[in-house]
Amino acid sequence: MYLHVQATDKCRSEPSVLAYAVHCQTDAHGRPVAGVVVICRDRLTGATYNHQATVQTVIHELFHALGFSKHLFHTWRDCSSTSPVGANCSPRGKVTHSDESGQMRIYTPSVISALQKHLASADPELGGPLENLDVPAGRVSSHWESRVLQGSIMAAVLGDSTTVRIDSATLAALQDTGWYTVNLSRAQSLVWGDGEGATFGSLSTCQDRSSSFFCTGSGFGCHYLHLHKGECQTDQYLEGCRVYKPFQNGSECWKEENGRKSAEEVWSGEIFGFDSRCFFSNLTRQVCVCVKCLILNSLFNINSFSLHLSQSPSLLFSSPVEGRCYRHRCTGPNGYQIQVSGSEWVDCPAGGTIQIKGYQGLVSCPDRRLCLYPDVTPPSDNVITFPASITSDPYETLTSAQNGTWAPLRPPTELTVATALGITAAVCLLAAVVVSYRKCCSCRVRIHSAPEHHSDL
Ligand SMILES: [Zn+2]
Repeated sequence: MYLHVQATDKCRSEPSVLAYAVHCQTDAHGRPVAGVVVICRDRLTGATYNHQATVQTVIHELFHALGFSKHLFHTWRDCSSTSPVGANCSPRGKVTHSDESGQMRIYTPSVISALQKHLASADPELGGPLENLDVPAGRVSSHWESRVLQGSIMAAVLGDSTTVRIDSATLAALQDTGWYTVNLSRAQSLVWGDGEGATFGSLSTCQDRSSSFFCTGSGFGCHYLHLHKGECQTDQYLEGCRVYKPFQNGSECWKEENGRKSAEEVWSGEIFGFDSRCFFSNLTRQVCVCVKCLILNSLFNINSFSLHLSQSPSLLFSSPVEGRCYRHRCTGPNGYQIQVSGSEWVDCPAGGTIQIKGYQGLVSCPDRRLCLYPDVTPPSDNVITFPASITSDPYETLTSAQNGTWAPLRPPTELTVATALGITAAVCLLAAVVVSYRKCCSCRVRIHSAPEHHSDL
């Protein structure tokens, strides 16, 4: 394998290309025996450089040169009945065919089995779906279909590096080349579409609100791995289907530095940090009502505290449902608790919604996204870890962070809480003073100026 770091004509003419690869020699049976990966030199410098993303790009290109390529699909070999691998294999012939909906797919045993297992369907038509965009009719792409295998290392576009997976369908494809022995158990979990059935990701179903992986409209929410907040968007490969994509900056719940300590964050109870995840929520802190009324009581000696609290609280505060960062800790498979700023740990039943003491509104508890995939974690700074290996029962480590599989149970950072409460108090005091000028002890303070649009939780 030759690795070139160059500013080639292709790099210059196609600014979105990070790297590209091709095999340059095959043996008598069509197996690639030499290849080249070109990394566009300019993409290795500058503020946007990301080490992990570059590593993933090289792996992606390597897989192309090793056999995951439209130029090599037809030379894949069937070695299932022979041993050792590579001896006395027979040509597979054409492995790509169109299914009845016109979707091009790779139909080889391991790939079919990987898709069936991933989507929890026995449909024999479930080959590995290939990208159909910019591909002439009857031809095939060297990438998986983004709508079905979003996040795969072999999708045409790699997203944020924490969301890219070396998935089972890709490893199965390398196995089915007949040229390699692949340890399929080393695949990283591809949360996208897990268990969603044979029609998942089709153009006809992606706008159907029954799938929690796709979104409609253009609101704010959570990326499906819940490591990031996201905005409902599409791209050319999604062909009109929409998903919550991480923002360019500051969407990681697991990055403590993303805690801006803005008034917005204080009111919403957000906590950023390694064990924080994104939740759909419209929580708004109630404490200001109390603080303000207490202050007004003391200033004006008005005994109206209970009166105000008995008013309909939903009239006082309202906030749209969006992605918010709260801490989480696992209690078992698909079971977890969450902690909002200033609150206790509270059970968050997967698929349900909860209220938090001291807050108006609700938090949605995602089903089958948290505490189910031990290898979905924020990146650690010092190591490049893939594929993640699961060497022990992760659920035994709930209260000890020995293997780093689950979020460690550490107390909230004192500074964070103190700062948040300090700001809360300051904002409340300010609000109280402002309001007291306008109307004595009216608790009708609208905290959020954003337009209301309550989504279903
Ligand atoms: Zn590619």
